[in-house]
Amino acid sequence: MKTTGMIRTIDKLGRVVIPSEYRKFLNINPDEEVEVILTSDGVLLRKFEPYCVLCGKKTALSEIGTSHLCRDCIEVAKRL
Ligand SMILES: [Zn+2]
Repeated sequence: MKTTGMIRTIDKLGRVVIPSEYRKFLNINPDEEVEVILTSDGVLLRKFEPYCVLCGKKTALSEIGTSHLCRDCIEVAKRL
């Protein structure tokens, strides 16, 4: 795993500041959502882009509760 040597302190509520250079590089802006993923190497934080929970597509999505489904998967589900 590649490391950059940037060290940050986690506050009492578990918050950590993402370096501004990273936010700028990843185009993460205030009030946007990020996805927090537990991996075997630690925690991965990435800009959240909605995707279909069944097939992973990122287009033609409908929000279903807190998840998303694509048009194709919705059509398949209707036929079940
Ligand atoms: Zn789908």
